[in-house]
Amino acid sequence: MSRITRSLIAAMTLAAMTATATAQDVNVYSSRHYDSDDSLYEKFTEETGITVNRIEGKADELIARLAAEGANSPADVFITVDIGRMGRAENAGVIQPVTSEVIAANVPSHLRHPGNLWFGVSQRARIIFYAKDRVANPPRTYEALTDDAWQGKICIRSSSNIYNQSLLASIIEAHGEDEAQDWAQGIVDNMAREPQGGDTDQLRGLVSGECDIAVANHYYFLRGFDKDVDGLTSGIDNLGWVWPNQSGRGAHLNLTAAAMTKAASNKAEATALLEFLTSDFAQQHFANQNNEYPAVPGVGLDQDTARLGFFVPDTTTNTAAFSANASKAQAIFNRVGWK
Ligand code: FE
Repeated sequence: MSRITRSLIAAMTLAAMTATATAQDVNVYSSRHYDSDDSLYEKFTEETGITVNRIEGKADELIARLAAEGANSPADVFITVDIGRMGRAENAGVIQPVTSEVIAANVPSHLRHPGNLWFGVSQRARIIFYAKDRVANPPRTYEALTDDAWQGKICIRSSSNIYNQSLLASIIEAHGEDEAQDWAQGIVDNMAREPQGGDTDQLRGLVSGECDIAVANHYYFLRGFDKDVDGLTSGIDNLGWVWPNQSGRGAHLNLTAAAMTKAASNKAEATALLEFLTSDFAQQHFANQNNEYPAVPGVGLDQDTARLGFFVPDTTTNTAAFSANASKAQAIFNRVGWK
C-alpha cells in the first residue's frame, strides 16, 4: 500500500472514529500492522458488542500524534512493539495506569510496568546466530560476544535501533553502567563491518560470509523458513542459533505492549479490550502472526516458533528497566562510537 493510500485510510478512519465514537466503541492506535488483526478484533466485537476502530502508524508518529491531540485524542488504547517505545509514550505523558485483576492474574509481573502503565502482549527474543561451518563453539552469553576470539566477526545493526537500545538497557540493569560501556566497546571492537541494515541483513551477513556471528530478533530467522527471503533462505541450513545466558539470567526478550491512553474516553471498553488481549485466543493470535512468544504462561506455541526449542527467558530483569535505562544506553552508544 502506498504512503498516500495509507494516510488517506488513516484520515478516513479518524473521521469515522470521531463521527461514530459511542459508548460501544474503542479506538486503538497501533504500530503493529497485520491484516489478520481484523479477525482478532472481530472476535472481540462478537464477544462484547464493542466495535474496534484502528489507526496504524509508526510508533513515534503515533506518540507525537497522541501528544499533539492531547485531551481531545480519540484514542483509548495504544499498542507498540518495543518497551523502549512504550517508555517514550510514558515520557510523553500520553498513557495512564490500568488496574485490572484479569491482567495482573494473566501476565507475569516482570512483563508489566510496576505502576500498571502498560503490559506485555507478546515477546520477541534478541539472540545470537552463527555460521555453523565456520564456528564450532559459538558464544553462549551476550557477555561472551566481546571475547577477542570474535574480533572482526560480528554483524549487528546500528545503535539508533530500538532493539539494541533495549538490549543494552538490560545489560546496564544486569551489570551497571561501567560494565555495560565495556560491553558496548567490546562489541564495537568485534564488529565485522560498520552497522548497516535491519536484523535480516545481519543474518544475510552470515550467509554471504561477511560475518560469523550475528545478533537479531528470533522471528527474522524464522521468516527465512516461512518465506523465500532473498539472501537468507538459500543459506539458512548453515545458520545455528544460541539461546544466550541459559545458565545465568536468561535470554533477553522484548515485548509488544499495550496501554490505555491518557485521553481515553471509553475507559470501560478500553479495559475490556486490554483484558481480551491477555485471553488464550488473543495471545495465540498475537504471538503466531509474527512467530513471537505469548506473554501469558501456558499458551501454546505455533509449531514454526517451537522450532527454536525450549529456553530460559530473563525473568529477573523487569522489562520496565529497558525504557528506564534507555537514555543511559544512548549515552553509552555515543561514547563508544557504536554507529
Ligand atoms: Fe522487528
